[in-house]
Amino acid sequence: MNEDRVKVRSGEETFVHMMHTNGNYATLCGLDGDDPDGSVDQETLPLPITHTVPIDCPDCKDIYCLCLEYNRTDFVKTTLT
Ligand SMILES: [Zn+2]
Repeated sequence: MNEDRVKVRSGEETFVHMMHTNGNYATLCGLDGDDPDGSVDQETLPLPITHTVPIDCPDCKDIYCLCLEYNRTDFVKTTLT
């Protein structure tokens, strides 16, 4: 239900983000989440299983809006499956 999003507390702020696209970050906007490095003050928090939670991260929203400006034809065909 919420598999495509992740809730992360970063310092004093907590937002629901879009999921990362690679294994290095927890969020699309580049937060580490539960990074074992003790200097990262972030943690991934559970999301409810009963309903879908809206994404409220402003950085993820900016990335999403930027991507809307592109079409499939903007990409090399071999990068799209
Ligand atoms: Zn985000």
